[in-house]
Amino acid sequence: MTGTAKRLTMEAFDRLCRRHLAAGTPMPGYAGPLARHVADGDRRLLKLEYDDSAAALRLWSFLLTEEERLHAARAAGMKIVGAMKDLGTVPVMAYSLPNVVAFYPDGAWWTPCVMELSEGLFGIAQSLGLGDALCPVRAMAGAFINQAHFPIPDLLTCSVGATCDDFSAVAQRLESLGHPILWWEMPSRRRPESGEAAVTLPGGFRAPASQVAVVRSELERIRDALAALAGSPLGDVELAAGIRMANRVRRILGELRSLAYTVEPCPMPALEMLIAEMLAIHFCSDRAESVAVLSLLLQEVHTRMAAKRGVLPTGAARLFWVNPVADLRVMNLLEDCGARLCGTEFLFCHALDEIPEDLPPMESLASMALADPMVGPSADRAARIVRDARAFGAEAVVISRIPGASHCALEGTVIGRIVREELGLPVVELEVPPVADPMWPTLKTRLDALVETVLERRKR
Ligand code: SF4
Repeated sequence: MTGTAKRLTMEAFDRLCRRHLAAGTPMPGYAGPLARHVADGDRRLLKLEYDDSAAALRLWSFLLTEEERLHAARAAGMKIVGAMKDLGTVPVMAYSLPNVVAFYPDGAWWTPCVMELSEGLFGIAQSLGLGDALCPVRAMAGAFINQAHFPIPDLLTCSVGATCDDFSAVAQRLESLGHPILWWEMPSRRRPESGEAAVTLPGGFRAPASQVAVVRSELERIRDALAALAGSPLGDVELAAGIRMANRVRRILGELRSLAYTVEPCPMPALEMLIAEMLAIHFCSDRAESVAVLSLLLQEVHTRMAAKRGVLPTGAARLFWVNPVADLRVMNLLEDCGARLCGTEFLFCHALDEIPEDLPPMESLASMALADPMVGPSADRAARIVRDARAFGAEAVVISRIPGASHCALEGTVIGRIVREELGLPVVELEVPPVADPMWPTLKTRLDALVETVLERRKR
């Protein structure tokens, strides 16, 4: 079979789901039509378009049932850790314990999008003094107040120091509201000085060995707190096993990204790839199921490759995308404009790189945490983007600005300049609010123009 797999409306996606359920396709208990989530207020689902596959059905159901999973974990007596800001480190440690689950309350970032602002989280945040000068992460404070989304964690951790002002302000306000936080210090990553002992971090950044030691000692405090919470030791043996499992997720995702961002025709849509990447951060509260969901997506990609079947016509403009979009629907839009994803940097590439297995586990985790693209200079982040855009064969770079985000004020200029100098590619900066409908014509026009530029450049 060859040709293009079309994207499905939610109605058609739910019909596909019902067909699979009726036919007895093996599906986990959480799988089901998306309409049930719309009934709970997730209205944006009605406007998205979905990949036509059983793998995508499972991915979406997995994503949208995370809150139920967390409540079920609490009911089963498991301990819940709310890891904040580090995006990929503390959950690896927490899931090394048998009776602990971890999630990112930061994920409330997307709730105003998914519920099309009907949930009122920004209003609650505003009433706490967290207004729209801050990025959408302020929704997290509202979710702690109305308790309509995730259970209040038994332990809250948050990295500080080299952290954006937005997150720092929201987390401090949370603590003032009576949610104790175990803060841990993340130093601002700097380049090693001449003659200074240095290490290469996962992903390729270099840092002084002394900074890795600082992060390691901070993570030791997290280790002690997790062990005390779980009532069982969190030794190197347990951590090494946890790192191996996290690497399993990262390896599958790595292969999926490599194929989805390079193969012609494009075998997996941008929206599903964004969701798939997010699973690496905290496994959507079920590490084993993350492996299963990502493996199915990878299998679907291989099936399509064998059939020379893609989700877009051959030759779509190849865009590297920087920063997650506050409105998920924009991932559909880029494809409507004749483009495809060809590499991403969604603020957490350190959660995609494999964690070293040949070092003491705490040193590996510290190295990985320090490789966070957001704790070093924008020029480092730009260098990683240049390297990955070149490797994936990108033809243009889109920097998606996040409304209110403190780092977005200037980093786009730095990243754009370095990408143009190093790769000579066109770069566009777009601002994407949580519900971007009023800006649709502007966004579409700018992406159309970028695609046109890419296609013209091919004629040179
Ligand atoms: S400002 Fe950026 S890094 Fe900070 S919480 Fe918001 S999106 Fe995340």
